[in-house]
Amino acid sequence: MAISLYVFHFFNKFKVFLLVTLCLMMLWAAFSYFVDSGQTIPKLKSVGEHFGKIISLEKEEDSQKEEKMKITEGVPATKPPQGPCPALSPYLRGASKLTFSPSLTLEEVEKENPQVAEGRYHPAECSALQRVAILIPHRNRERHLLYLLEHLHPFLQRQQLEYGIYVIHQAGSTKFNRAKLLNVGYLEALKEENWDCFIFHDVDLVPENDFNIYMCDRQPKHLVVGRNSTGYRLRYQGYFGGVTALTRDQFSMVNGFSNNYWGWGGEDDDLRIRVEMQKMRVMRPSADVARYTMIFHNRDHGNEENRERMKLLRQVSRTWKTDGLNSCSYRLLSVEHNPLYINITVDFSMQPKIS
Ligand code: BGC
Repeated sequence: MAISLYVFHFFNKFKVFLLVTLCLMMLWAAFSYFVDSGQTIPKLKSVGEHFGKIISLEKEEDSQKEEKMKITEGVPATKPPQGPCPALSPYLRGASKLTFSPSLTLEEVEKENPQVAEGRYHPAECSALQRVAILIPHRNRERHLLYLLEHLHPFLQRQQLEYGIYVIHQAGSTKFNRAKLLNVGYLEALKEENWDCFIFHDVDLVPENDFNIYMCDRQPKHLVVGRNSTGYRLRYQGYFGGVTALTRDQFSMVNGFSNNYWGWGGEDDDLRIRVEMQKMRVMRPSADVARYTMIFHNRDHGNEENRERMKLLRQVSRTWKTDGLNSCSYRLLSVEHNPLYINITVDFSMQPKIS
């Protein structure tokens, strides 16, 4: 009896305090329910926060953190992490019949490639396996360049490559020097991106089959086994011209091309000798895919046959260390970022004049 009287007395004395506590607990439960169910009702939130302040500052911080986490749960990040592209692109089509329309314009090719910006592209759906720089030596071959750009952009995109196309234009009236232009292309391209792989590409050769993959391998790769003009037969076993693929390191290991081949011929054989001297082995894709259409042209003025080439080729073992990337001097006239390619213009005017 004494105990029950004591309990009654206790509740009577603290009934206001107990009632307030009960109300606060109910309010807290209601607040928690709304936050848990993912609803963000600002008014209720502010009531909850206010309530939290009364209870304890630490608790308020905890509940805010929790609330933030719950709201962002399930919302996709703006850029989902991309996986690598597959080893073989699903967009490859195989052999295609190439056409070259006489009325084609650069604007048309630009319109067909809206995803290419300043000569560069990367796949949107995955991260490319290699970053590839395509280097094209050039002088007075605007029509050939247009056809090559028309075919090469969609070809490289079907291969899911990250790439940039560099056209290295030789200004002035010195004899054409394909090899030195390619050295310039390599050095200048590396100033704007740490490319993994370099494709050294003649302007008049258009690939016919997109299974001829423009990526680099463990060994330097020669991509032109056959072309229409030679009945699709390899010209000779050591042929290393037209289109080749070397990694950044493979090319640097051989000190690039020689700078001393003026006019037509020999520079590609010189590069093959450098490659072999470094105990590397030239690889080729199978003959049924490594096929090119060569756009017909006459020998250009300023690119006459180099009659010195056999003599130069006999000296490679003595000259390669001091003649190449490490001795490539040139006057850079401009670097222009056009929509479909990066145009590098250089002058080699300290060199022999066209006869
Ligand atoms: C030249 C090379 C050329 C090859 C195929 C050789 O005699 O030295 O530069 O690529 O012929 O035309």
